[in-house]
Amino acid sequence: MRTPAIHLSGLRKSFGAVEAVAGIDLEIDDGEFFSMLGPSGSGKTTVLRLIAGFDRPTAGTVSLSGREVTKLPPYERDVNTVFQDYALFPHLSVIENVEYGLKVRKVPRKQRRERAEQALAAVRLADFGARRPRAMSGGQRQRVALARALVNRPKVLLLDEPLGALDLKLREQMQVELKQIQRDVGITFVFVTHDQDEALTMSDRVAVFEAGRIAQVGTPEEVYERPASPFVAGFVGTSNLLTGAAARTVVGRDGTFSVRPEKITIGAEGAPGTVSEVIYAGPVTRFVVDLDAGARMVVVEQNRRAGKAQRGDRVQLTWQQEHVIEIGGDRAA
Ligand code: ATP
Repeated sequence: MRTPAIHLSGLRKSFGAVEAVAGIDLEIDDGEFFSMLGPSGSGKTTVLRLIAGFDRPTAGTVSLSGREVTKLPPYERDVNTVFQDYALFPHLSVIENVEYGLKVRKVPRKQRRERAEQALAAVRLADFGARRPRAMSGGQRQRVALARALVNRPKVLLLDEPLGALDLKLREQMQVELKQIQRDVGITFVFVTHDQDEALTMSDRVAVFEAGRIAQVGTPEEVYERPASPFVAGFVGTSNLLTGAAARTVVGRDGTFSVRPEKITIGAEGAPGTVSEVIYAGPVTRFVVDLDAGARMVVVEQNRRAGKAQRGDRVQLTWQQEHVIEIGGDRAA
């Protein structure tokens, strides 16, 4: 068995009466792109700070590459952190910013420059060394911050919402780049985000956080296609839950079920309901339909095949049996 890059065991952290982390057991593999996804206040940042050593846990242990580091200070852990606000030094050039950590650790000048140049090349900023951070775009500054962390060649890189300050377009571009950079350098990335698209796009595996605990860990496909709970189904995508009487009427049996919006079509037969909202969103249109059976379903149609359903129209919703997810069950209904 391979030693995991990170092993958290029985991890807890309280701040006064607030239990920010309420018992987490988790292994993250070497070279994995791992995301911690969850709503605001669910404990993601606190877990990251415990891994980095900025905070001490109330209970439990943190191990890195098989070595327990729970009581070690941050600088004795083979981990670097990239924060959302980048924290670059404005009076230093880009390459001086990147070199800074090596200078502090007294790496000789020539070697330092060489490694900084390599790190800048890895984030595709080889020609930007002489610039000042303020003469760069948000996305470029973000990459400088990344280079500054990579230059130390840590085994693990922790990233706390590093793309949070970027506009949507740049964000999507950086998501692809970050994934490529991670693959190139082969370092374990632990990425905190509350954006489900971001987590699904970039990660090998995702942990979905709920109130200081992990509700589910799995590949993006697993957490999307087989959510372990209604919370996960709703946080990773639109849940479209069918429970109680609605489940009995529409699915034909008891349980909690979900059908993803893109698996539903508005057709001539199926479960009857009334369109309560039509939301045009460029390539797709979203229809909110209140089923007579008592559930509210969101339907996403590609615009090229979208019907002309209007608010107030009576419609029928159809989907294939194989796309009915049984929540908490082992397989589709
Ligand atoms: P966000 O996405 O908003 O950053 P998060 O999932 O990262 O949220 P945390 O920052 O880990 O959540 O916070 C978890 C809980 O712990 C919250 O209720 C928060 O208010 C509380 N908390 C975090 N740090 C402290 C602190 N230093 N002192 C007191 N309470 C704290």
